[in-house]
Amino acid sequence: MTDVCPECGGTLKFDPSRKRYTCLSCGLSLTREEIDDIRGKAQKTDYEDEKEKVRKEYLRWWATKK
Ligand SMILES: [Zn+2]
Repeated sequence: MTDVCPECGGTLKFDPSRKRYTCLSCGLSLTREEIDDIRGKAQKTDYEDEKEKVRKEYLRWWATKK
C-alpha cells in the first residue's frame, strides 16, 4: 500500500533520519501518527456524509408517502 498525501494526493516519501513522511508534490511533512489522525478524521467525515444522505432520502420518502 502506497502512502499518499492527505492534502494533495501526492506520493509520500519516508525520511528515516527524521522519522517523517514528506510529500513529493507539495512538501507537506507529517509523522505516521499525523497521517493516521488525518485519515481517521476523513473517514469520520465520510461516515457523517453517508448518514446525512440516508436521512435526506428517508425524509424524501416520507414526504412523498402522503
Ligand atoms: Zn501533498
